[in-house]
Amino acid sequence: MIKNIQSVRGMKDYLPINTAIWQSIENILKKILSNYGYKEIRLPIIEQMSLYKRAIGKVTDLVEKEMYTLIDRNGDVLTLRPEGTAGCIRAGIEHGFLYNQEQRLWYMGPMFRHERPQKGRYRQFHQLGVEVFGIKGPDVDAELILLNTRWWKKLGIDKHIRLEINCLGSFESRENYRNILIRFLEQNKNLLDENCKRSMYINPMRILDSKNPVVKNLIKNAPIIIDYIDNDSRIHFEGLCKLLDNLGVSYEINHYLVRGLDYYNRTVIEWITDYLGAQGTICGGGRYDNLVKQLGGHSTPAVGFAIGIERLVFLVQELNPCFKQLSNYDIDVYIISYGSNTKIIAMCLAEKLRDVMPEVKLVTNFGEGTIKKQITRAIKWGAKLTIILSEDAIKSNNVILKDLRNGTQKNILQSEIINVLKTLLK
Ligand code: ATP
Ligand code: MG
Repeated sequence: MIKNIQSVRGMKDYLPINTAIWQSIENILKKILSNYGYKEIRLPIIEQMSLYKRAIGKVTDLVEKEMYTLIDRNGDVLTLRPEGTAGCIRAGIEHGFLYNQEQRLWYMGPMFRHERPQKGRYRQFHQLGVEVFGIKGPDVDAELILLNTRWWKKLGIDKHIRLEINCLGSFESRENYRNILIRFLEQNKNLLDENCKRSMYINPMRILDSKNPVVKNLIKNAPIIIDYIDNDSRIHFEGLCKLLDNLGVSYEINHYLVRGLDYYNRTVIEWITDYLGAQGTICGGGRYDNLVKQLGGHSTPAVGFAIGIERLVFLVQELNPCFKQLSNYDIDVYIISYGSNTKIIAMCLAEKLRDVMPEVKLVTNFGEGTIKKQITRAIKWGAKLTIILSEDAIKSNNVILKDLRNGTQKNILQSEIINVLKTLLK
């Protein structure tokens, strides 16, 4: 027997029952983005591998273990994008829309990471990313947090998601902290697991994020970065906290929040929920004021974040009953025809209705079957109304209109269909 070809591990299909919920969540996200003046940018899903190595950092989990890299027919080494920030900056430098300009951008689409698949963690997943260029003050950091807050409120999850923030200082001050942290870790080497020992000299800040309970306990006494940051970063962070206080936004300062990618400086943020177990981070981001220059552009202040749409959809479905019953199968009108030459009349009527009622969801019955059978099909499609074109009805310029929501049925003149539909579907 021929073996069926399966989807690639960790890469999911999204069926119409899922896409209905996705679309309504996406629409809310997009509407609010536009409300803040953010514009969409669409970027390729493949870039040169060197872009990610340079942007994210050679010794990060993402670059070391998680990238999907391939060699194309020309011998170019290409990577399926694991995140969107690097590609966005690459485009900005290429098209010259970063230098001396302000940009508020967003994108949405699939990202690829070779991780161990589990709930809330996939190999192809989707992110909505936002990037702001050219604004250096903490006001824009606060704006992004306000935008997030508005999303969560509109989606009905604001009571179940909390904001953690931290300040990583400048790269120079971080270097100083790094050495102090290494010294602390060296003094407590006996409490570190093998993993931590391995990253101790390569990326010691990763240990601050360890899930090992013994290490976690040790970290409670580790030196904190905020004590070592430069003065300008401190002023920036205090400015952000003050803005959030005045705007009535709740937050926690997590001194050990570091994020997994190397490019962040100053502000880092995460929005976390307790509903999704270990995969509780819905949204993460921060400042990356050095990255544009590092990728070959002019120095440009920048800040951004990305939300994991799968995790967001999970949470919204879990907490907001309005998003539980959505289905793509909700149809407004289902047109049934029975008898010779009625099919073409039904198709013409359907087209005419679509011309004048472009927002209406309308399906025409295809295939044979008695009227009863066709009505069963209409019910399966979740239709609200069905128009029945029988030979007899057509002869007398009538159609039968059946309201499947309450079972009522009446004959109406063909010339009145549009008005009647408009009233019934209001
Ligand atoms: P995590 O700590 O969960 O691995 P991360 O720090 O690697 O997350 P980012 O690179 O900041 O995540 O990506 C932003 C968001 O994208 C995450 O907060 C999460 O919601 C989502 N995300 C990241 N990796 C995955 C994945 N493999 N599957 C589903 N969503 C993901
Ligand atoms: Mg990760």
